[in-house]
Amino acid sequence: MAKHPFLGLVALGPVDPAILRKLCATLDRLLLLPVRVLDPKPLPRQSYHITRRQYHAAQLLEFLIDDGETEAFRILGVTAKDLFIPILTFVFGEAQLNGKAAIISLFRPRGDDGGPPASKRVLLGRLVKLSLHELGHTFGLGHCREDGCLMEFSSSLEELDRKNPAFCRYCRIFLNDYFRNQGLLPPLKRYAEIHAPNASTPTAGSSHKRRP
Ligand SMILES: [Zn+2]
Ligand SMILES: [Zn+2]
Repeated sequence: MAKHPFLGLVALGPVDPAILRKLCATLDRLLLLPVRVLDPKPLPRQSYHITRRQYHAAQLLEFLIDDGETEAFRILGVTAKDLFIPILTFVFGEAQLNGKAAIISLFRPRGDDGGPPASKRVLLGRLVKLSLHELGHTFGLGHCREDGCLMEFSSSLEELDRKNPAFCRYCRIFLNDYFRNQGLLPPLKRYAEIHAPNASTPTAGSSHKRRP
């Protein structure tokens, strides 16, 4: 375990630096892990599927950890390209369960698959939810069936937009234990207070009393 664990954000291929900075600042506010933008990387050509015109998400995860950054506690890749895994038409993101790397794509959240273009505010809200969901997997969380929990699986933007920008209480307890076992501060307090920029409904944690 690194002395000062942090989450590293890595742009894979061209990504609007303003979006990356905003995502970094928002995640830094929400997580107890400090967040830093690391050097960008070019997308590896061998992970591009010519007929699908998408990048293989699981291969990009391998690429993210193969190629160097050893200090980061977790690495979150961010790409503007569309992602897939062989059994699904597309994925918004992918992560190594209980592993080091996660990745999210701006492609569909931004409306690049033909849907209406998202405003910057809506896009950032979606990216924050996707980031926390994928990072949740790296902290050992599986998919959750609690209505509105961040760890619910979403296969469409409608489902993503319907989710609360917060983990349910079961997932928060799991995360708390996970972080404690890692010798890190439990993230529960601030997860419970998450309000992503496009939050339109009360978060799952908002009815709970704040801890001192
Ligand atoms: Zn998932
Ligand atoms: Zn949950």
